[in-house]
Amino acid sequence: MSQNILVINSGSSSIKFSLFDMTTEAERASGLAERLGSDEAVLTVKTANQKNTVELTESDYRSTLQVIISALTEAGLLETLPIAIGHRVVHGGEAFSDPVVITRDVMDKIRDCIPLAPLHNPANLAGIEAIEELYPAIPQVAVFDTAFHQTLAPEAYLYGVPYSLYTELKVRRYGFHGVSHKYVAAEAARRLGINDNHGIISAHLGNGCSAAAIVNGKSVDTTMGLTPLEGLVMGTRSGDVDPGLHQFLSQQKGWDIEKVTAVLNKESGMLGLSGLSNDMRTIEQAAGEGHAQAQLALDVFCFRLARQIGGLATSLPRFDALVFTGGIGENSRLIRAKVVANLKIFGFELDSELNANNGDELGRISAANGPNIVVVNTKEELMIAKESLALV
Ligand code: AMP
Repeated sequence: MSQNILVINSGSSSIKFSLFDMTTEAERASGLAERLGSDEAVLTVKTANQKNTVELTESDYRSTLQVIISALTEAGLLETLPIAIGHRVVHGGEAFSDPVVITRDVMDKIRDCIPLAPLHNPANLAGIEAIEELYPAIPQVAVFDTAFHQTLAPEAYLYGVPYSLYTELKVRRYGFHGVSHKYVAAEAARRLGINDNHGIISAHLGNGCSAAAIVNGKSVDTTMGLTPLEGLVMGTRSGDVDPGLHQFLSQQKGWDIEKVTAVLNKESGMLGLSGLSNDMRTIEQAAGEGHAQAQLALDVFCFRLARQIGGLATSLPRFDALVFTGGIGENSRLIRAKVVANLKIFGFELDSELNANNGDELGRISAANGPNIVVVNTKEELMIAKESLALV
């Protein structure tokens, strides 16, 4: 009996997917349908030894998902329909602290969270609804980016604003990247033999970046907030700014709230600071060739990350390990070295050879004497598949 689980991440103009055989946890295929809703919609499907791209003549969610499942079937990867479909859902608000099997009630609650994630949750729901129409017999599971951080205490999740904004509108900090933080912290604890008792900070550094403080497997603080704009400097997102900036820009430049929000989300971060790119590889290369603004962007990124890690550390009983993950955290020796250099106060020290190799057999890059620094490759899709399997 096949144990295939399909993991879907539906965005506003794209659908990412991975197919896992859960008897071995091997990824059998993955792919991306992008530019959905336009004349240039395409689907790319990657398997162990092939990569195929096809144009999509109809690219609504339903048609696209049907084409994805047909493509997997024709490639001989789906002998029968998947035993479950796991959806990455960005915002679960306060309604979800764990993955759930999707029902009408769950869909209503995801809909209730749309004001908190107006770009992401409608797209996530559209994917769920399309599958329900196409394959009503396949159980669907929702795995939320926010759920892992529902263990934050009120002093960590409340902003210093009128409490009525929390009771009326649920204005609070939620945190994101929960699937990744949960996995990499657990994996680091397992590798270091500190499963039962640990204080860990994980830094998920990709296009989006966030860090989390984790005590004995539970999130106690994190850098992202009501939206994924708060916290660290990211590819195109600013991270923390003075809330007074909005009024200042409105007065000085005549920008309305939509414009300010767009600048902070899409034109800031590494792109805005460097004036060059949101891609860390491009920035590192340019800085190496003497591009002063790229160097400045790197300096700000690392300074702010170290500063946030220092803040998160106040929630730990002990600082057992710092974990790097995400495209940047897993690969950038330079960023890791610069951040760790700013964390001397905690006794952190790198082994430069291990850092150059992305870690020893445990992923460790720390010098023998200091606290552990570990590189763990995140496995968000596999984690969603495992959570889905556990529920069906
Ligand atoms: P992700 O969103 O996790 O796929 O991460 C994307 C980011 O990782 C981009 O900014 C990439 O430039 C960055 N990245 C990937 N590989 C490297 C590398 N070898 N060195 C520096 N940054 C990298």
